[in-house]
Amino acid sequence: MSNKSTTLTNVPLLDLNRQYDPIKDEIKNILLDVFEQKRFINGPEVTELEKQIVSYTGANYAIGVSSGSDALIVSLMALDIGYEDEVITTPFSFFATAGSISRVGAIPVFCDINPDTFNIDPDQIESKITSKTKAIMPVHLYGHPANMNEIQDIAQEKNLLILEDAAPSLGAEYNGQKTGSFGHASAFSFQGAKIATSGEGGIFLTNDSLLYENVSKLGDHGRSLTKPLWNDEIGYKYKMSNIQAALGLAQLERIDELVDKKRKIFKWYSERLDSISGIQLNSEKTNCKNIYWMTTIVLDKSFNISRDDFIRKLKEWNIDSRPAFYPLSHMPMFETVHNPNAEYLSQNGINLPSGHNLTEDDIDYICNVIKNILGSD
Ligand SMILES: *Cc1c(COP(=O)(O)O)cnc(C)c1O
Repeated sequence: MSNKSTTLTNVPLLDLNRQYDPIKDEIKNILLDVFEQKRFINGPEVTELEKQIVSYTGANYAIGVSSGSDALIVSLMALDIGYEDEVITTPFSFFATAGSISRVGAIPVFCDINPDTFNIDPDQIESKITSKTKAIMPVHLYGHPANMNEIQDIAQEKNLLILEDAAPSLGAEYNGQKTGSFGHASAFSFQGAKIATSGEGGIFLTNDSLLYENVSKLGDHGRSLTKPLWNDEIGYKYKMSNIQAALGLAQLERIDELVDKKRKIFKWYSERLDSISGIQLNSEKTNCKNIYWMTTIVLDKSFNISRDDFIRKLKEWNIDSRPAFYPLSHMPMFETVHNPNAEYLSQNGINLPSGHNLTEDDIDYICNVIKNILGSD
């Protein structure tokens, strides 16, 4: 640690979410196939990706779409959630969670989170239900499943729909069941930083055949399936291209390896940081499998360093990091509500480098820098 300049020249930027050796033979081959076929839309790659997602997650139906955000929007449209309807969701998530609800004219109602799992706290959901509530949208944040048993019980009792924002959780499990297979509708993201990527892209999932047909149609401008160029209703276009699907397929081929690597990265971090009192790391409840999409630390106030100063110091050592999400309920377009747990995590949480390329030596270096900054080495 003493000679910063020599250390730095030896260390490439340890960035937040680089993908895993992306140019592998299987990717080259599958893309070459697309170019040789000279067919870029409506191809067998998209159908095959949908088939494989169905078999991997156990959901009945999947549709490749343009992004995870679009999977959420088209789900809301198909579930007929719109003007003035309320959807209960978490304030501690990426903007798309609440943004998609507002985009269809509905209102996101923010319910605080459980500080261990970072996910919506089922015990606080009931107090948010009104006569306008149509659905609950849990998020499996950073790859830890939301408490689906309790959410399903509430939804059943109160006759609400469940829309799973499973965007960052491909591979995660709750009671041995894969996320994305619980909701009336669910969304995965294949955006470039996620555990598997198609560049941009997303997957809509459902167990309901009618909803599946409805989303197929709405995602293609409500186009009639029997009468060419005739539209029965107003949808929008949310399609995935063959190149995207081919990339996604190549990633899915080694999804187990990708999940194992994320879990290993987290284990390396926790072996080095767990024993430091005042540092909280991602958790894994006993009935859950966390894919640790991003290793996240929450720093106790007693360290006397602000989150932003900590991030700046990491950067001096060429270590990329980013603040945990701002509570969505504090963004200017939403009504401000007070969610103390989300606020605490937002102020004190930091996502650490979690890209697939990281080695144990990289994590060792990062953890030494962290200990140095916090004065606990
Ligand atoms: C990534 C992400 C999304 C959005 O997915 P895109 O494919 O980028 O549109 C939505 N919700 C959560 C929780 C995410 O992490």
